[in-house]
Amino acid sequence: MLAPGGTIGIVGGGQLGRMTALAAARLGYRCHVFADEPNSPAEQVCAAATVAGFTDREALERFAGAVDVATCEFENIPAASVRRIAAVKPVLPQPEILEIAQDRLREKDFLRSIGIDTAAYREISDPAALMRALRDFGYPAVLKTVRMGYDGKGQVSLTPEVGAEEAWRRMGAEVGILESFVDFVCEISVLVARGANAACATYPPVENQHVNHILDTTIAPARISSQTAVRAEALARRIAEKLDLVGVLAVEMFLTSAGEILVNEIAPRPHNSGHWTIDACVTSQFEQLVRAICGLPLGSVEHHSDAVMKNLLGHDVDRWRETLNEPLTKLHLYGKARARPGRKMGHVTRLSRRR
Ligand code: AMP
Repeated sequence: MLAPGGTIGIVGGGQLGRMTALAAARLGYRCHVFADEPNSPAEQVCAAATVAGFTDREALERFAGAVDVATCEFENIPAASVRRIAAVKPVLPQPEILEIAQDRLREKDFLRSIGIDTAAYREISDPAALMRALRDFGYPAVLKTVRMGYDGKGQVSLTPEVGAEEAWRRMGAEVGILESFVDFVCEISVLVARGANAACATYPPVENQHVNHILDTTIAPARISSQTAVRAEALARRIAEKLDLVGVLAVEMFLTSAGEILVNEIAPRPHNSGHWTIDACVTSQFEQLVRAICGLPLGSVEHHSDAVMKNLLGHDVDRWRETLNEPLTKLHLYGKARARPGRKMGHVTRLSRRR
């Protein structure tokens, strides 16, 4: 167990790292962030920082020497860099889990191997293979990069009007994954926390609304039947157990009109759709991560309020002042200097009485 007073290393300087550091500070831990640019959202609230490229060996080793345990707040950290840290200090969730989540093919192969349904998918390595797969899958379909994709980056929707060559060029990577398009009724996600002692806790499923592939709004809990909620939580728990997870993990799922649940993605870190837990639950996803990786018991996942979380993207953030006058509303800003279109600048959580 790492007692309060110890140092948690956070790899990645974004808002997830920032909110993890805030939760850690409340429990008396120090945080040391590894970020690839100065004055990152996480650095602003951490006791120490290493600012270097994510492949800088010497900096990674210095960082590993300065912390007691480390966690990644961002999926696209090179696997070799994470392993370098893990050779010196524990990295939780374990690097093997991150490596599965970094690769959409490995991720879906893993999910299928443990009996979890996903959209139909196939590895694609050139436009001819894409054409053949489209003949089997039919339209519409979605072509994605296997690696380094997030918030819809490197993702191309395929309709008969878009040629295979053109789609391949737009995707812009050497290997892709073609998925059949899921005509979902809603997108939900479940956050699961698992401690070093294998205790597991799931937050209730939430409903996610995306705009331009970026999360816009999370409604917590999701407006789904209790049977569906139980199934979704059981899926998340199964994934966490099969991975032997220590930490938190988000499972993104599609709910179809036939009542099927298809898993789209897993993310072994706190998740944007879990931000509501800061204001509406006894224990936030960030505190849960700190507890899990430090070997403390997990906290209660009880929610005392319902919540609607809205991201402040780009210049939405300019309206921050108005939200301060709203009752039962909490404003969170990430300390980012420049508002670019689609950039996550902050979020607002609106609370209401539990249904
Ligand atoms: P992803 O990058 O896989 O998280 O995808 C981002 C968003 O694109 C998802 O949250 C969905 O809204 C949409 N999307 C991704 N894959 C599919 C699919 N196979 N069928 C329908 N929509 C999808």
